[in-house]
Amino acid sequence: MDHKVPKSAEAFAEAKQYIPGGVNSPVRSFRSVGGTPRFIDRAAGSRIYDVDGNEYIDYVLSWGPMILGHAHPEVVAAVREAAGRGTSYGAPTRVETELAKLIQKALPSMEMIRMVNSGTEATMSALRLARAYTKRSRIVKFAGCYHGHHDSLLVKAGSGAATFGVPDSPGVPAGTTEHTLTVPYNDEAALARVFEEYSDDIAAVIIEPVPGNMGLVPPREGYLQAVRDLTARYGALLIFDEVMTGFRLALGGGQAMFGIRPDITCLSKIIGGGLPVGAYGGRRDIMELIAPLGPVYQAGTLSGNPLAMTAGATTLRLLHETDGFYARLAEATTRIASGLKAAAGEAGVAVQCYSLGGMFGLFFSGQPVYDFQSAQRSDIAAFNIYFHAMLDQGIYLSPSQFEACFMSAAHTEADIDRTVAASRTAFAKVAEYLRNPH
Ligand SMILES: *Cc1c(COP(=O)(O)O)cnc(C)c1O
Repeated sequence: MDHKVPKSAEAFAEAKQYIPGGVNSPVRSFRSVGGTPRFIDRAAGSRIYDVDGNEYIDYVLSWGPMILGHAHPEVVAAVREAAGRGTSYGAPTRVETELAKLIQKALPSMEMIRMVNSGTEATMSALRLARAYTKRSRIVKFAGCYHGHHDSLLVKAGSGAATFGVPDSPGVPAGTTEHTLTVPYNDEAALARVFEEYSDDIAAVIIEPVPGNMGLVPPREGYLQAVRDLTARYGALLIFDEVMTGFRLALGGGQAMFGIRPDITCLSKIIGGGLPVGAYGGRRDIMELIAPLGPVYQAGTLSGNPLAMTAGATTLRLLHETDGFYARLAEATTRIASGLKAAAGEAGVAVQCYSLGGMFGLFFSGQPVYDFQSAQRSDIAAFNIYFHAMLDQGIYLSPSQFEACFMSAAHTEADIDRTVAASRTAFAKVAEYLRNPH
C-alpha cells in the first residue's frame, strides 16, 4: 500500500477486482510511470483533490476539455438547470443547433455538423463518410497520431516509408487495417510517395494538425499546406482530427492557426465542456450524404444529449465572448514552457519543450522532436523521475511524456510560478539520476 495515498491505494485495489486494470481508460492507471493513480474526489478551477485530501495543480484537465478550469460556475449552473428538465429525450432539441452554430462560427469549414458521443465515434464516422464520398478505400494516417480506438485507425508505423497497416491491438483483423497507410508526420516527401503509388485509391488523409498524442509535436513551416495541396491534387479528402486542438490552439483550432481549410473536421473534448460529446462536420456536399439525407448510415441513442450540449454550448459561448481569451491562454502556456525549459537548463538536463496555444509538452531528449521516431528517442526513466517528483509536490502532469499537457483560464501566474519552482527540485533529481543511473 502506498503510504502517501492510502485511500487511493485502497480504491485502486478494489477497482481492480471489477474493472480491467482498475480504470476505464488505460493511461489513467499510471502503468508507465508506476505508483498509485490518484482517485479524484472533486475539482475546482486549476485544482483537483484526491480522496486522501491532497491538492494538485492540474495540467491534465481531463485530457484537455476543462479549458475554463474545473467546475466553472456558469457551466455547472447550466447543467444543473438542464438536468432538472430531463436528462435525455431521444428527440431533437434547440440546444443541438445552438452548439452547432457556436462551432461553425469558429470553424467555418464545418458547413454542416453531426453530433456524436466521443472523439473515436467522430473519426470513425468521418472515415466512413470519406470513403462513401470518394468511392475509394484507402486512408492515410501519420505515425504517432491517435484518432481513437476504433479498428481501422489502430495502426502506427513501420519505420521510414509507408507500410501496410499492422494492427496495434489483437482483436483487430488484418483485413480491417490493410487499407490504412501510415507515413511519418512532418515528412512531405513520404506523403507524396504514397500518393504517387496509390493515387486513385486514397479516400482521405486524417491528421492531427498539431499532434498531441505523441507528446506535443509542432508542424514544420508550410507542412500542413503541403498536405492540403497533395490531397487536393489527388482528389482525396483532408480530415483534420481537431478533437484535441479544436478550441484549444485557438478559437478556430489548428485550421485557424495555420490557415488551412480541411474538407472534414472531427471535434470532441472542449466542445463537450467536460461531458461526453463528439462531432464531425465539413463541406455541405459531403455531409449531405449522411442519413437521413443520404445513404451513409450513422446514428446514436444519446447523440446530442441535452446535458452534454448544454455544457458544450455554455463553454463555447464563454470562449467566444471573452475578449483576449486565447491571447492570455497562449501567454500563460508560453510562461510555463519557458519556465520549465529554463529550470531544466539550470539543472543541466537536456529537454525539448514545445508550446502552442493552450498546449505544452516536454521531451527528455537532447535532439529536436518532429515525428514519432524522434519522440521515441526520449528518456523514459528520466521522465518517470520527473513526473513523480512533480506529483509529490502537488503538480499533476500527464503521466507520460508522449501525452500533451494543458493550460486553463483558471491557472494563475502564481500557479505557474509554483509549478516552475517545483520543477527545479524535480530536474535536480533527474540530473542526479543521469549522473548515477541505477
Ligand atoms: C482524445 C482524442 C481522440 C479520441 O477521443 P475519445 O473521446 O477518447 O474517443 C481522437 N483524436 C484525438 C486527436 C484525440 O486527442
